[in-house]
Formats: sequence, structure tokens, C-alpha cells
Amino acid sequence: MERPFIVKPGDNVSLNGVGEGCNLKRTPEYTGAYQKKGETKKPLKKLHKQMLKLQELLYAESQHALLIILQGMDTCGKDGTIRKVMAGINVQGCDVVNFKVPSADEISRDFLWRAHKAVPQKGKIGIFNRSHYEDVLVVRVHDLVPKSIWKQRYQQINDFEKMLVENGTVVLKFFLHISKDEQKERLESRINDPSKHWKITEADIRERAYWDDYMQAYEAALQKCSTDWAPWHIIPANKKWYRNLVITERIVETLEGLDMKFPKPTSDVSILSVD
Ligand code: AMP
Ligand code: MG
Repeated sequence: MERPFIVKPGDNVSLNGVGEGCNLKRTPEYTGAYQKKGETKKPLKKLHKQMLKLQELLYAESQHALLIILQGMDTCGKDGTIRKVMAGINVQGCDVVNFKVPSADEISRDFLWRAHKAVPQKGKIGIFNRSHYEDVLVVRVHDLVPKSIWKQRYQQINDFEKMLVENGTVVLKFFLHISKDEQKERLESRINDPSKHWKITEADIRERAYWDDYMQAYEAALQKCSTDWAPWHIIPANKKWYRNLVITERIVETLEGLDMKFPKPTSDVSILSVD
């Protein structure tokens, strides 16, 4: 895959398209060598086939887990990504966890407690729809805890993810990058289409007013928490078909890199026969 999507440790990240950290290949409307949806259908189908085989191997070998973290602004396409990217895999080997406003039970523990409880077992793919990063995003934007507390969390997150990786969990983090104009269109289409009303709340409109604060919080999270062991990817996400292709490509590439093997049979298969 194209490397510009991967945030390297120490990279300067600019999400608003200006300044030093700006990178054309990380802007919301970027679609690489593709111009329209139809062009990604074939490569995506091929990737899905590869992903299904690799998932079977992941399950059979059960030495690694894959944790996929999806973050982004409202309407950025987290649900759509889960639907489309995972379309090709066996649902038995995949768990999706949604991170909502913490419950009383969750808020009375450290912020990583609910994330740790939800990490996938070896052999499985786990998807976090939002994640422990909310604790340095919405929490930072709305001052839900004092700065002295959220400031420490970047390092705590890096340490937590390092521990997961050292214990066999591969961590891939995707920031689905849409533009503010694209969000407007998507919110309007939800307002105008009764079948999409369930997807929209007043809070979505309210949060949009904090766009710039969120971009700042995202820039900080992407810069401080993209590590060699758990990299962040900035995924151009205005075009859903391109977003799906890039994320699927990255997952396949990562699973291939694990160099997995089917375990040796536990019985001597050569002497087995079926009546
Ligand atoms: P949705 O993804 O649309 O179902 O919304 C879930 C909501 O929960 C979002 O507004 C998140 O910002 C919010 N949320 C998730 N985690 C936290 C957290 N740790 N603290 C406060 N709000 C959160
Ligand atoms: Mg929402």
C-alpha cells in the first residue's frame, strides 16, 4: 500500500490542509490512482478473498489477535467501513465493540479498563468502533476531566498498546478523514431521508460546532500515539469506495506480514479413515 497514510513517529500532522504537516495524500478527497467507484470493485473483491483465507489461518494458528481501531468525526463512515471491509470474512472470528459514553461502572474505573476487557482473543479480529482514544478526544474537547489528567493519557495509551503488541495482539488504527463540507452533506442527507433519521441526533449537530477543536485533538492523538508498534493511518474518507479499498489493503498486508502457518495436526492423519 501507499506509505503516506501511515503516520510515522515524530511526523508533523496537519488535518486542515495547510501548514508544514500537510500531505496531499492524506487529504479527505484523495483517491490515488482511482477516479471512480467501479474501478475499485475488482481489486476489493480480490482482497476480500485473500482476507478470508488469512482470517482462517489466524484462527487456526491462534497465536495472534488483530485489533482494528476506527476513529473519526460523526458520519465519517465507521459503521460503513465495518460493513464493507468485513463483508468478506467469517463473522464467527470477528467481534465488534462500540464505545459509547461510559457507564457508571466504566467511569468509576481507569479509562483503559473497558478497552482492555474488549480486546480480541488470539485467533480473532476485534474491531473498536471508537475506542480508548475518546478519552483524549471528546474528553479533551469538552474538558470532561482536567488537562493534567488527559495529558498523561497519551503515554498511558502508548504503554497499554505496547503491552498488547508484546503479548500477541497486532494493533492497526485508522482515522477516517472526511472534510467539514462532506460531513455537512452527510448530515443533511440523514435529515432529508426518513430511513436515516435513526442515525442522527441533536448531539451530532452540536458536536460539529467544535470541528476545529476536534481537529486539534486528533492531530495531537495522531502525533503522540503513532508508534512503531501501533501505527495510526490517516485514511482519505470522503469517497467511501477508496476508504474501503485502502483499509482492506492494509489489513491484508498486515495479516500477510505475520507469516502464519497452519498448526501441525494433533493426530496422525495418515492412519485415519472414515467408514
Ligand atoms: P455514536 O458513535 O454515534 O454511537 O456515539 C457515541 C458517543 O459516545 C459519541 O458522541 C462519543 O463521543 C461518546 N463517547 C465515547 N466514549 C466516550 C468517553 N470516554 N467519554 C465521553 N463520551 C464518549
Ligand atoms: Mg453519532
